[in-house]
Amino acid sequence: MASGFLLPDIEDDDTAPFWQGTARGQLLVQACSACRHRRMPPRPMCPACRSLQHTWMPLSGRGTLWSYVVAHPPLLPAYQSLAPYNVITVALDEDSQLRLVGNLVARADGPINEVDPATMRIGEPVRVVFQQVEDVFLPRWMRV
Ligand SMILES: [Zn+2]
Repeated sequence: MASGFLLPDIEDDDTAPFWQGTARGQLLVQACSACRHRRMPPRPMCPACRSLQHTWMPLSGRGTLWSYVVAHPPLLPAYQSLAPYNVITVALDEDSQLRLVGNLVARADGPINEVDPATMRIGEPVRVVFQQVEDVFLPRWMRV
């Protein structure tokens, strides 16, 4: 049964390897085959040198809380009862220009409203965890 949550297209040509990685418990990033520039989110062309060739490399899954917002209604129906909840941007340890959006959670499979936003601090260390929602393994973040 559909959750009502907004979920990514995990079969998209550019992003499918990323989602295959999360299903294995791995956080992957595209790395340009020509200049080695790493980029997030996945896309066909290197923004540094315009090469169309790339590989996928695993990351540590460690980062820092770079920014966040606290969502309040009006929201889509599936999110309504969870508000207020956090939406965070994480700067990855390997390169602070690599950033992912997700939620800070207290447990890998815990709800997105479990962490009190008043306790969140920019710069605090986090690590990736994964939660399966339908057929997608979503990266989420826990405090280290
Ligand atoms: Zn490049």
